[in-house]
Amino acid sequence: MRFIRDIYSEARAAGRPAISFEFFTPKTDEGEQRFFEQVMPALAALRPDYCSVTYGAGGSTQSRTFSMVDRIQREFGIPCMAHLTCVGATREAIRTLLRDARERGIRNILALRGDPPEGADGFTPVEGGFRYAAELVDVIRELGDFGIGVAGFPEGHLENREGRLADWGHLRAKIERGADFVLTQIFFDNRFFHEFRAHLNGALQVRVPLVPGIIPILSAGQIERFTALCGATIPAALARRLEALKDDNAAAAAFGVEFATEQCVDLLRAGVPGLHFYTLNKVASTQAILAKLGLS
Ligand SMILES: Cc1cc2nc3c(=O)[nH]c(=O)nc-3n(C[C@H](O)[C@H](O)[C@H](O)COP(=O)(O)OP(=O)(O)OC[C@H]3O[C@@H](n4cnc5c(N)ncnc54)[C@H](O)[C@@H]3O)c2cc1C
Repeated sequence: MRFIRDIYSEARAAGRPAISFEFFTPKTDEGEQRFFEQVMPALAALRPDYCSVTYGAGGSTQSRTFSMVDRIQREFGIPCMAHLTCVGATREAIRTLLRDARERGIRNILALRGDPPEGADGFTPVEGGFRYAAELVDVIRELGDFGIGVAGFPEGHLENREGRLADWGHLRAKIERGADFVLTQIFFDNRFFHEFRAHLNGALQVRVPLVPGIIPILSAGQIERFTALCGATIPAALARRLEALKDDNAAAAAFGVEFATEQCVDLLRAGVPGLHFYTLNKVASTQAILAKLGLS
């Protein structure tokens, strides 16, 4: 399977954005079966350039990440990236996981620190583990032969008390240590992304693809939960709209398609290298957005 950095280079040479879909790992075998019977075939038909599968905070969903990535690559022929976090893992455990990934033909890893467990006061590495995602990037590079993506935060990372410029400096460190591209956290005001990109490309001289993460709004409640977790700002006008739609999920999802499409049109006009869709393992919204953009 191809390196994702090559996918971005080829898309750029062809003058088009690379389209990627992110999936989360279902909690049960039945959920995974449903995903492979219903969700994946419908989204594969949209011919994404690549997909990615999240790595759960703990327990059984972690082992699903590699097996789902493997199946997506083998059964659908689509390059797929495994997310990997530092949560609860020693360096040795990560090396073992990466050898397993390589044996399964997984060539691309999204190197993440992961979130602290709910209620915990900050992130505590295990003994022999990693404090920051940058250290995970080092180990992946050391083993060689992997493409590496990292997370970027257009509003700055939630935990960073020194402000977003300091956070973006830490992002540059991940790139200097070997990351090939950046996928961003969700945002609902494109100005955050434009400022992020201007600073990274300008003052920080970053040249790797900076790819916006797009989430289709499905319901008011869903966006409330997500933004509480990741700290993304909901602009006042959007908050008012979501409040008005809070009892009508179908109308909220239809509005979500319009909202995300407008975001994407503006981002594409600004020349982004790709669009990374947080599909939430749902078909309809991502399908509708791509159709409206003329990209399906
Ligand atoms: C596209 C995307 C996909 C994701 N997928 C998953 C997933 O599958 N599973 C999951 O559990 N989570 C996932 N996350 C969430 C991610 O794990 C969290 O946001 C996490 O809190 C930060 O991860 P990071 O890799 O950015 O960490 P880091 O880059 O390590 O940064 C964490 C914090 O430390 C600070 N920092 C970094 N280096 C230094 C330094 N040298 N000195 C001082 N401070 C420093 C940063 O500014 C930041 O505040 C995803 C996020 C994104 C954007």
